[in-house]
Amino acid sequence: MTVARGVDLLSVAQHLGTAYGAFNVIQLEHAEGIIAGAEAIELPVIIQISQNAVQYHGGLAAIGTATLIMARNSELPIVVHLDHADDVDLIEEALDLGFKSVMYDGSRLPWEENLARTAAIAKLCHNAGASVEAELGEVGGKDGAHAPGVRTDPGQAAEFVAETLVDSLAVAVGTSHAMADRSAVVDLELIAALEAAVPVPLVLHGSSGVDDAGLQAAVRAGIRKVNIGTRLNQVLTEAVREQLAADPTLSDPRKYLGPGRAAIAVEVARLLGLLAKPG
Ligand SMILES: [Zn+2]
Repeated sequence: MTVARGVDLLSVAQHLGTAYGAFNVIQLEHAEGIIAGAEAIELPVIIQISQNAVQYHGGLAAIGTATLIMARNSELPIVVHLDHADDVDLIEEALDLGFKSVMYDGSRLPWEENLARTAAIAKLCHNAGASVEAELGEVGGKDGAHAPGVRTDPGQAAEFVAETLVDSLAVAVGTSHAMADRSAVVDLELIAALEAAVPVPLVLHGSSGVDDAGLQAAVRAGIRKVNIGTRLNQVLTEAVREQLAADPTLSDPRKYLGPGRAAIAVEVARLLGLLAKPG
């Protein structure tokens, strides 16, 4: 199977009134677990590597290529997506490697500058046969950039999409990155207003902070891509901690990362199922 374009998958979700999960890769075990979970429930999935994770590994090529190969080896349509990138060189590298989906994050820039840069990146991605996600109205919580109460304005969002020609839009509707509990309240009325105003699929970031019912309500209101990172790290780490606590002599990483990877697969299958049948 070839690696899918982000927009193709999201158009299907738009048509069906469902959403696809987008899960963050940090270790190879994340990518393996995410694909195993998607295969278990036989649903397409988006695997994303953030610019932050690239910095952790000291480069994109190794982790990115490995993830692309895993995606190509699957029978399912799988999107490999570069998440929260603002480094143009990194975006170009991702496109060269074969990524078919990129998020350009200019949400901290002033309006005019975000518009101009996002439009230029959209052109770059489209020329490479990839689709592009942008963000308007910063989703807070990352690197101290927490901005409580920030909301995306539907009129501005429509203008932004028309001017930049992005394929999907991440919106600020009450979620925040890296939440350890699932207590965020999503502004469903705003999602519905954005869905009516904006022709492209909407993306929810910071979804680890939303409970199952909240996620499904967000999908019913118009969210088509649900980004989940922290939640997978919680289930991975819980499983690892359990193994290490049970046997203090354990040293083979396969003995604790294996159960961590299996826990990721179970949670991914569960979440994809919820999003595919939002009720
Ligand atoms: Zn995000």
